[in-house]
This record gives sequence, C-alpha cells and structure tokens, in this order.
Amino acid sequence: MRLKLKKRLHAEGLRCTHPRRCILEALEKGPKTHAELLRDTQLDRVTIYRNLIALQRTGLVYKVYLPGHEPVYVLCESEGPTHAHFFCQKCRKGICLPPNIVQIAEPWASRTERVFLLGSCSEC
Ligand SMILES: [Zn+2]
Ligand SMILES: [Zn+2]
Repeated sequence: MRLKLKKRLHAEGLRCTHPRRCILEALEKGPKTHAELLRDTQLDRVTIYRNLIALQRTGLVYKVYLPGHEPVYVLCESEGPTHAHFFCQKCRKGICLPPNIVQIAEPWASRTERVFLLGSCSEC
C-alpha cells in the first residue's frame, strides 16, 4: 500500500487495519464493485461493507452509481479541498479533476458528498 494512502488514513483518524489495507490495495489496482472486492480481498461481506463506509467518510474512497449497474468504489488520489471526479464508463477509470475544471463553491462545497462526471476518457 502506498505511503501516501497510509498517511491520509492516519490524518483522518483511522488506523491502518488489515481490512482497510486489503480494500485500499485492491482499489489501487482500479475501481471495484462490492462483489469484486469480496472476490479479491478474502474479507467477508460485512467487513467490506463497514470499512467502505468508514473509508467513504474520510473521502479516500467514493462511490459511483451507474444506471443499471452495481455501484463502483473508486480511490480518490488527491487530497485537499472538495473536487469533482471524472469516471470513464468504458474502462472504469476514476480521475480526480483539478478544481478549475469544476468549481464547487460554498455553500455547496461543504454540503456535497461527491461530484462525479460520467463519460469516456481520452484513451477510450
Ligand atoms: Zn479525488
Ligand atoms: Zn476510459
């Protein structure tokens, strides 16, 4: 697991437990659904579910809802102020957008959980 992620976990007051580590390591390889995390981490369903909630609260992980599909969990690579994400529906890549692309100003910044744009990336 990357040191950067470990530091962010600690900064958010979360310990780097075994399940969190497994989930973050799986997401470092790419966005995953709950079922894929279950397959890739050998953790049980409830442990994954609980830890995903904790990780989402810290902003390290966000959830993308795709119409007609299971939600996908994506790692947020850049810390800092509220920023929007781009999610490629073809290759399932999540990109943190620079704040000048989509500006989320107050009062919305503090009320918005996550903002994401759906589309296809430059490689698709
Ligand atoms: Zn991000
Ligand atoms: Zn793509």
